[in-house]
Amino acid sequence: MPELPEVETVRRGLQPAMEGARFAKVEVRRRDLRWPLPKDFAQRLEGTTVKGLGRRAKYLLADLSSGDVLVMHLGMSGSFRVSRDSRDGAIANYHHERSKSAAHDHVVFHMSNGAKVTFNDPRRFGSMKLVPRAKLEQEPLLRSIGPEPLGNEFDAAMLAKVCAGKNTSLKAALSDQRVVAGLGNIYVCEVLFRARLSPKRRAASLTDRDGKPNSRALALVEAIKAVLHDAITAGGSSLRDHRRADGSLGYFQHNFQVYDRAGQPCPACKGKIKRIVQTGRSTFYCPSCQK
Ligand SMILES: [Zn+2]
Repeated sequence: MPELPEVETVRRGLQPAMEGARFAKVEVRRRDLRWPLPKDFAQRLEGTTVKGLGRRAKYLLADLSSGDVLVMHLGMSGSFRVSRDSRDGAIANYHHERSKSAAHDHVVFHMSNGAKVTFNDPRRFGSMKLVPRAKLEQEPLLRSIGPEPLGNEFDAAMLAKVCAGKNTSLKAALSDQRVVAGLGNIYVCEVLFRARLSPKRRAASLTDRDGKPNSRALALVEAIKAVLHDAITAGGSSLRDHRRADGSLGYFQHNFQVYDRAGQPCPACKGKIKRIVQTGRSTFYCPSCQK
């Protein structure tokens, strides 16, 4: 499952191919993605221009000249591939590709600038949906998503407030998309290590008795922003690195401090990293450094 940095990397990879370009032709090879694509999907896209390609949590949002927004999600195994339709198109090749089988190429966008954007998804948990811009705020997929962790409004006070009185662990709270958008198992582990906070600590412990955010809340917000920034920067460099065009793009395994490193030495104290299971998912942490 891609996390926020990977989706942001995909957005940046797709931007030069899609922004400012018109959908010249849209091929729908399979409609039955996570939800079936509407019958008039291609028709509603063709001829419209992508005014901007944004992101909300793990959704890509293409703002269209028609007044619709194309909402796209990679699901478990979805990926995009950018190639060129015409030889004169000046679009750089961009591969964010996990499956090379054309049998799983479900949707192909032929853009007016010569770029061919192919959505491939073997497991078909990915989705595409057209939502009128005026109705985007009420869109069920997006409505209950919490603040963007990299947005200016996301700070210690906001995080402490949503965690106040929560009886769940910090791990569970940060994995909850209503608390903060786009964090999954990998980055929650990494963020808690960076903040030196135990994944088992109660979420409510981010506030003092007077209800104000404490130093733990400040450290946690700083860690969230720093870890995501680092991962997006790493994704940006992998985007330019053709040797890594094998589908590993966006996961940046080499940068993980604790994730998937059970039994290995902690980068800070050299103690052993431990794996536990919380709400059905693996948590990796250093019991000495994280309190
Ligand atoms: Zn340690």
